[in-house]
Amino acid sequence: MTGRRTAVLLILDGLGDRPVKELGGKTPLQAAKTPVMDRLTKEGQSGLMNVIGPGITPGSDAAHLSLFGYDPVGCYPGRGPLEALGAGLASKPGDVAFRANFGTIDSDFVVTDRRAGRTFSREEHEALEKALSGIEIDGVRVHFVATVEHRGALVLEGNGLSGEITETDPHETGLKVLESRPLNKDAKKTAEIVNKLVHLSHNRLKDLDLNKEREKRGLPPANILLLRGPGQHREIPTLQERYGIKAAVIAGGSLYIGTAKYIGMEHVPVEGQTGTIDTNFDNIAAKSIEVISSDFDYVFIHIKATDNASHDGNAKEKVLAIERTDKMLGKIVEAVGKDIVIAVTGDHTTPLSVGEHTCDPVPALLWSSFMRPDATQAFSEIDAADGSLHTLRGMDIMPLLLGYAGYIGKMGA
Ligand code: ZN
Ligand code: ZN
Repeated sequence: MTGRRTAVLLILDGLGDRPVKELGGKTPLQAAKTPVMDRLTKEGQSGLMNVIGPGITPGSDAAHLSLFGYDPVGCYPGRGPLEALGAGLASKPGDVAFRANFGTIDSDFVVTDRRAGRTFSREEHEALEKALSGIEIDGVRVHFVATVEHRGALVLEGNGLSGEITETDPHETGLKVLESRPLNKDAKKTAEIVNKLVHLSHNRLKDLDLNKEREKRGLPPANILLLRGPGQHREIPTLQERYGIKAAVIAGGSLYIGTAKYIGMEHVPVEGQTGTIDTNFDNIAAKSIEVISSDFDYVFIHIKATDNASHDGNAKEKVLAIERTDKMLGKIVEAVGKDIVIAVTGDHTTPLSVGEHTCDPVPALLWSSFMRPDATQAFSEIDAADGSLHTLRGMDIMPLLLGYAGYIGKMGA
């Protein structure tokens, strides 16, 4: 529509940091050469953002819901449904989903390997999926998909289910597979189905030819499904319903794809996008430009490498990930800058010195070619404290982007 621009949200996962000794007391964002982000900061506005709320350490999934304008308190369904959607399973309100692992147990149901040796070929994945297909327990249908290595996702589809149950993965070897317990009386049926499913998975997997082959090669058999992160898919309004916008997600990690799909975004795959430092930044730039130029109103672009580097305590790699993202951003702005309103920020702080997420606010910048600039000259945690956006909440980013892009109408006459 005329007068409207495409709203773009670029997230560098775990972007925020603290001063790093190895970087001369600078944060990675200060140390990195980021001519594009600095230019956009000069021409636009910046601030610091508490993604979920002051003092709250965000998990990536809840943080992203907040950045998409949804209050995670009330909207966050648990990890399972988001992973299931990201893995390409159909999941709808009422369904209960889990993250799943192939594991190895002995005859007493004691876990001897939580990852069943970790490596699986495509053929093995297919054989395991086939062995677990067509399961129905007490009127509830079970859908499973294998994803990467020993991982997968599982959806229970049926009536009267509840996500208020405990997981079956003991998270340690040498312990028995846990019984799923209901956390309230409405969840009793679901816990019973899950416990039946765990035994059924063992019966269907334990004698498979592929497991005999694995044992011959010295690999542990994949003879059970271990389930964790249960959650129930909730009925929440999509972005289309809330704002009338058509939204796309460009991401490598299944959790981000799933979280975006949960609120109605369409996944646009990019060749070579992996969620690591080796992700194909050129292809992400090219695809972003293509999507921005099409009929999408909103595009979410996710870069995971910054968070990986933080968890690994690798300062050099975090700086490199920021610099590569800056170059990618440069290509996008050069090609379609006149057509977009963009926010660049992180979903939380992951200090290199901590290796885990913390509650420190993250820097955020908002830019479009028509925007009133503030006095901030560079994009960093330190500079952003002086920006005109001041202290934002994560939930403010969506209305800011959509307001400037022309998707939010006037209030009042
Ligand atoms: Zn994150
Ligand atoms: Zn993380």
